[in-house]
Amino acid sequence: MFAGGRPIDEVLAELGALHAGDEPGRGRPGVANTFDSGLASVEEIAVRAFELYLHVNGLYPTSFPSVATLEHQVVAAVGEMVHAPPGAAGSWTSGGTESCLMAAKAARDARPDVERPQLVFARSAHAAWAKAAAYFGLEPVVVDIDPVTMTADVAAIERAITERTVLVVVSAPSYGHGVVDPIRSIAAMCARVGVRCHVDACIGGWVLPFAEQLGLPVPEWDFRVPGVDSISVDLHKYGYTPKGCSVVLYRTAAMRRGQYFVASDWTGYPVVNSAMQSSKSGGLIAAAWAVLRHIGADGYRELVGRTMDATRELIDGIAGIDGLRVLGRPAASLVAVTTDGVDFFPFLDELERLGWSIQPQLSQPGVPPSIHLTMTATHGPYVTDLLSALRVAVSAARARGPLPTPEQLSFVDELAAMAAADGGVSADGLTELMLKAGLLDNGRMAPVHALLDGLPAGLRESVLLAFFEGLNPPL
Ligand SMILES: *Cc1c(COP(=O)(O)O)cnc(C)c1O
Repeated sequence: MFAGGRPIDEVLAELGALHAGDEPGRGRPGVANTFDSGLASVEEIAVRAFELYLHVNGLYPTSFPSVATLEHQVVAAVGEMVHAPPGAAGSWTSGGTESCLMAAKAARDARPDVERPQLVFARSAHAAWAKAAAYFGLEPVVVDIDPVTMTADVAAIERAITERTVLVVVSAPSYGHGVVDPIRSIAAMCARVGVRCHVDACIGGWVLPFAEQLGLPVPEWDFRVPGVDSISVDLHKYGYTPKGCSVVLYRTAAMRRGQYFVASDWTGYPVVNSAMQSSKSGGLIAAAWAVLRHIGADGYRELVGRTMDATRELIDGIAGIDGLRVLGRPAASLVAVTTDGVDFFPFLDELERLGWSIQPQLSQPGVPPSIHLTMTATHGPYVTDLLSALRVAVSAARARGPLPTPEQLSFVDELAAMAAADGGVSADGLTELMLKAGLLDNGRMAPVHALLDGLPAGLRESVLLAFFEGLNPPL
């Protein structure tokens, strides 16, 4: 397909045709977390700033000194919002995951005395932390959450800390349920035993400061809390910048040091990387800087005000729907909703049939499955329609009754056998098994989701892996 070059119009038409099958990515709440400010000027400035920096490589702040300035100013802007003290230091990263990975690496490398270091976090911490553990050879110590508040359990975290703990992670708020952990207690405990404490505010870090300025009740979470050592804040979520923009901050520059990678002992140029990437887009840094400057604190306050109004309306509306309930007490603009006395997955199907695809979250020990709504500034006008769809979907699911399950039992056995065999679960093998179990017959996803939900995590992960590998099949 790349044998001969093609003119601009033809290429763009082809691209447009491919994109036509995608979700819109703007407007109402949906399954994919896209963040749309609803302001045309925000998109315009991102595109124009990116264009200006199209050829800039952020790897070389000595050749492109403006990149260092932009990066420093963006870090400083975030630092100001999270009350970073004088002497704090931070870095630009490509996203929340990279920010979390870097905080974990910096914590690990600050403790060369610890053999087999451990990372302690609650089950509600983002999967990026499990990834950090997997990538950097840390042992993940995962603690169950409080089944009512959905927040990290202080006593359980305390019990999990050992002499090998190099970092404890708390969330402000958690992605899954949008609740803020008891940060003051956990950070104080970490300070007492001399372990670093990271606040993952990737998604809420650009909502909570503005909500506080608007006089809304916001739990304590930032650098004003003693014992909080590092904080991650994504700009490509509620900062409404293009994807690929986040910041990680540390209370002191010394705490950041372990994040850097330096190598001069090879045949090429001396390499100094502040985070995972080496060559990196100057365009994204410029776009984020420009979007922050353009919207400004007053603009963000307004966007957050609208977001929080929509969230409040949604939560209040759900309280009036029989058979649905919000999990925990959302502190920002993320809401998880589960069913009460009605099978969850048929409800999800009914919602889908009404034209609403909302992100499902599978169950965890002590935590039921839920739908996840990331409310943003453009969602207010859709709340009434969403609430009526939720109401209709839950009564339709109740009318359908519980899911039949028997044919799935043999599926689970066969799947376990396939996972244990050489080569593990493959996309083709998985499809064959699902066809045989009648899981792909009627376009209903409920039996498939229910099945995934009931699988042990390891088997669930094999299925997901096979499915996603299948999306990019061997050549
Ligand atoms: C989104 C998110 C992350 C990971 O961020 P990506 O930008 O998707 O890599 C980490 N932590 C929390 C709390 C998040 O919401």
